[in-house]
Amino acid sequence: MSLSGRCGCGRVNFTINDVPLFTQACHCLDCQRTTGSAFVIHSVVAEADFEIEGSTSMNTIPTGSGAGCDLHFCTKCGTYLWCRYRYHQVPVIAVRVGTLDDTSAVRPQAHIFTRSKQLWFLLPDDVPAYEGACGREGVWPEASVRKYNALEPISQRS
Ligand SMILES: [Zn+2]
Ligand SMILES: [Zn+2]
Repeated sequence: MSLSGRCGCGRVNFTINDVPLFTQACHCLDCQRTTGSAFVIHSVVAEADFEIEGSTSMNTIPTGSGAGCDLHFCTKCGTYLWCRYRYHQVPVIAVRVGTLDDTSAVRPQAHIFTRSKQLWFLLPDDVPAYEGACGREGVWPEASVRKYNALEPISQRS
């Protein structure tokens, strides 16, 4: 499986070369602010599966975990394409599903931080929902948990 995507002006293109580890809709207030919408949909992918062409810039914002999050944008049009939550000890990033060429290619496998979700948004019955963050064990597909656990921790990379 491979998924392609791009920024608004088309100068930045990317490909995800494997099935995303997990896709979640996050209703936290940070995600509401940075999307300017009610929630974000993030596909978590291994950095090694992510190929990007074009010029991007990065900014770091504080997050609820205290670890912060690195946000990556097209330098020209400013489209926010992906981010890296620093609490992950392994090289994974969260790609914003709205930037995919086929936005129907993935769908949320969980809704998280529903305690701050908009009241008008009704959670679907067939997708797990969590008031805060969700863990990986027992939530992510087993193959994804295995792949995540096998990634080399960032601090040990040379
Ligand atoms: Zn652009
Ligand atoms: Zn969030």
